[in-house]
Amino acid sequence: MIPISKIKARAILDSRGEWTIEALVTLSDGSTFPASVPQGKSIGSYEAHNVSAARARRAIERIISPRLKGENPCNQKAIDGILISLDGTPQKSRLGANAILAVSIAVARAGAAYLDIPLWKHLRTIGRFRTPHAPPRLYINVINGGLHAGNSIRFQEYLVIPRAKTIVRSIEIGCAVYRALGDYVEKQKGASARNIGDEGGYAPNFTDDLEPFRAIRAAARAAGFSQKIDLGLDAAASNIEASEKSLHAVYRKMIGKYGLWYLEDPFGENEWEAFAALAKDQRVKTRIAGDDLTVTNIKRMMEAKLKNSINAVIIKPNQIGTVTEAIRAVRFAKKAGWLVVASHRSGETNDDFIADFAYGAGADGIKLGAPARGERTAKYNRLLEIERFEKK
Ligand code: PEP
Ligand code: MG
Repeated sequence: MIPISKIKARAILDSRGEWTIEALVTLSDGSTFPASVPQGKSIGSYEAHNVSAARARRAIERIISPRLKGENPCNQKAIDGILISLDGTPQKSRLGANAILAVSIAVARAGAAYLDIPLWKHLRTIGRFRTPHAPPRLYINVINGGLHAGNSIRFQEYLVIPRAKTIVRSIEIGCAVYRALGDYVEKQKGASARNIGDEGGYAPNFTDDLEPFRAIRAAARAAGFSQKIDLGLDAAASNIEASEKSLHAVYRKMIGKYGLWYLEDPFGENEWEAFAALAKDQRVKTRIAGDDLTVTNIKRMMEAKLKNSINAVIIKPNQIGTVTEAIRAVRFAKKAGWLVVASHRSGETNDDFIADFAYGAGADGIKLGAPARGERTAKYNRLLEIERFEKK
C-alpha cells in the first residue's frame, strides 16, 4: 500500500467561466492524481451543497488533507466514510460537496493507478457491478433551452439517443444527426441559429414546444439515420411555470407524434404524484426519469419507488458528493429495475470521470451534452478510449 501523503487544491474555471475546484492527491511515492468537479445551473433544492472555490480549497488543504494523510487510497469506501463524517451535515454544507467530491474522485484515480487497472474497472470492482451486455447509450443534447440558453424554448434539453451496439457507432450516428441539424436550423432560421448553448446544442428560437423535434426528425432523415435514433426530453420542469395538466397534455402530444422515448423531470421537484400519474399512463413506452426529483439521494429515491413516480433515474455524483454514495445510488436504482443514466453538469471542466463512472457502473445511458465544446468532447473521447483500447 502506498498511503496518501498530502492533498492540495486550486480554483480552476468551468465552462461558464465560473470558479470550481480541483483537488490533487499525492501519495507517499510522489505520484499525484487530479480531479475537478462540475457545477449545475438548474440545481435541485435537495442536492448536496457546494461552497465557494476559495472555501473548498481551504477545506481540502486545512481539514481534509491532514485527516487523510496515511490512509490507503484503494479503500474508497473507508475514505468516503471519513469525508462524510468530517463534514457531518446532511447536505455537505460545512466542507462543501464540491470539495469532498474532488477529493473522492482523485482518491479513486490514485487507487486505480496503484492497482494498475483503468478507473472504470476499479469503480466496477468497488460497486460489485456485473459486466453489462452493452455499453451505455448516449443521450446527446442537440437543442438547448431553459436555463441553458437565451432563447424562447422553455424545455431544457432535446435529446437524440442513438440505437447502436458500440460507443463508436453511437457517436457516428449522433454526430451525423447533430451536424445535419446545424445545417437544417441554419437554412430555416439563418446563420445565427448555429449558435450553441451551455451544453453545445443549438439554441435558436422555436415557435412551439414540438418544433425542435420536427427539426431533429428532418435532420435525422437528411443524415440517413431516421430509424437509428430515439428521442428524449429533459423538461427540467422545476424551472417552468405551467400547470401539471397543461404539461401532461404537451408530453402526450410529444409521445403521440414523435414517440418520445425518454422524459426527464417532467414536473417540479416535489410533484411525486404528477410523475406517478405520467409513469403509470405511459409505463410501457416512455421512460420517466427523476433528476431534481431524486438528486442521486437514496432517501429521495426510496420515496420515488414507494410512490411509483419514475422508472428511470439520472445519477450525478456531484448531487450527492462522494463516489461511494453515487455507486450506492446506482445499485439502488438497478435493484428497483429503473433505467440508469449517468450525467455530466451544464458547467463542466475537462475532467472525464463521468465516462469511467458510467462505463464501470454499467449504466444504461450517459448524458453528456452535444459533441461540441472541449469539456463535452473530453467525455465522448474518453468513452471511445475505453471501448477501443481498454476493453480488450
Ligand atoms: C440537468 O438538468 O440534467 C443538467 C445537466 O443541468 P444542470 O447541470 O444545469 O443541473
Ligand atoms: Mg435534468
